[in-house]
Amino acid sequence: MGRSSYRLRIVTLVAVLLQCAARARADKIVLKNGRQIVASNVTEDGDRVRYETSAGELSIPKSIVDHIEKGGLMPVTESPATAVANLNLAPPPMEATASAAEIDQAAVHDGAVDRDYIARMENEARGGNARANQKAALAHHAAAQFELAHGDMEHALNDERTAINYWPDQPVLLMNVAYLYLKKSEFKQSVEYLERAKRNTTDNADLYKLEGWAYYGMNKTEQAVAEWKKALALKPDVETQQALDKALKDKQEEENYKENESPHFQLKYNGAEQPALARDVLRVLEMHFATIESELNYTPPEPIGVVLYRQQSFSDITRAPGWVGALNDGRIRVPVQGLTSVDSELSRVLKHELTHSFIQQKTRGRAPTWIQEGVAQWMEGKRSDENAAVLVQIYDGGQAAPLGRMEGSWMGLSGDIAQYAYAWALANVEYIVETQGMSDVERVLDRIAAGASTEDTLKEVLHDDYGDLMRSTAEYLKKSYGK
Ligand SMILES: [Zn+2]
Repeated sequence: MGRSSYRLRIVTLVAVLLQCAARARADKIVLKNGRQIVASNVTEDGDRVRYETSAGELSIPKSIVDHIEKGGLMPVTESPATAVANLNLAPPPMEATASAAEIDQAAVHDGAVDRDYIARMENEARGGNARANQKAALAHHAAAQFELAHGDMEHALNDERTAINYWPDQPVLLMNVAYLYLKKSEFKQSVEYLERAKRNTTDNADLYKLEGWAYYGMNKTEQAVAEWKKALALKPDVETQQALDKALKDKQEEENYKENESPHFQLKYNGAEQPALARDVLRVLEMHFATIESELNYTPPEPIGVVLYRQQSFSDITRAPGWVGALNDGRIRVPVQGLTSVDSELSRVLKHELTHSFIQQKTRGRAPTWIQEGVAQWMEGKRSDENAAVLVQIYDGGQAAPLGRMEGSWMGLSGDIAQYAYAWALANVEYIVETQGMSDVERVLDRIAAGASTEDTLKEVLHDDYGDLMRSTAEYLKKSYGK
């Protein structure tokens, strides 16, 4: 069968999630000893108080509870990765044909990749026969899809790139490599492969859609706008339209902005705001910069973009719910309405967001979310005190989610679960800093930057795997905050 049976068909580019925030409705259980448990759906049931956590329902004796505060919305700070890394895009699928399905089944079966089969395909390809080369490519592609589905980005990328060696001009394979680079926030590489795919197909809307996202991730809004317009000219698409609308709004808003600079920051703010506030924000940011720089022993080489918004513009542009404090999607975005100088709350928010920028640059976007959020919360001055009791209870109940599940984007988590993810992230980082020192965090970040997996890094630096780290953290919480 000829090439045409592998014609591009990209169907599922799923919901685009722009806002980096989760929402939680929280109640507070205040215990007689003064400790507080933040939980959801707190109910009284006979002599027990029941409440929900990520781990399911827990209960404590009513006799130790002083009172319950039914809560409003709990702000949960944003996920650090760029909006693009958080994209919930599906990989471009190959067209399903009988032959491709056969190769699929032979390359991956019984829950594993069949390397012997792939080696046989590679052997057959050595003869130089075009069809045999395509089959070897499809076998590697099948392996890559399997690995991607299991969260193994590195092997997926290896296999997909090998597939291209066997079938160099196949657009869907090129787009799949581009897609994997996009997910890894390696936007330049992503664009390279998309450009290669463009040499072999020109009328594919999804190609331009992906490239728009790659440029958006590089903060090249104008080029992103151009790509998305091309995509829409070829095919109407709600997600592309939303992405384009947002980018255009962003551009328009920022055109009215004034700019201000300090050694490490490029600040934009609406002309209606006080220039004195802009200067004060830069002063505070430079102060935090110096602190974080010495704590993490690292100086970000790229200037850090900061945008100050009036509240309404912030909501319009970020589409974040009204309670969200700030965002870091590559730039630090902060609403400052009504302020004339930096108060302690804004200072804390700036330090948290700035920490994300440091870690993002230091690890080239490779840090897992739990380390990002753990270190950012630590830097802003948060500690585990009020959450310690409930975390220990969840851990002792054998119900703590494994840390490995907190590496990727938290965008899919419900607000309640995200709240616990933040609490565990802080507790784990707090344990490392308090017992080993910030220098160990720095070494962990360095190794992650070099491409090591987070768990291997922990074993190397702390001699702990994820299970050990959770156990040590629970012990630390008991010792530090328990009675
Ligand atoms: Zn954060």
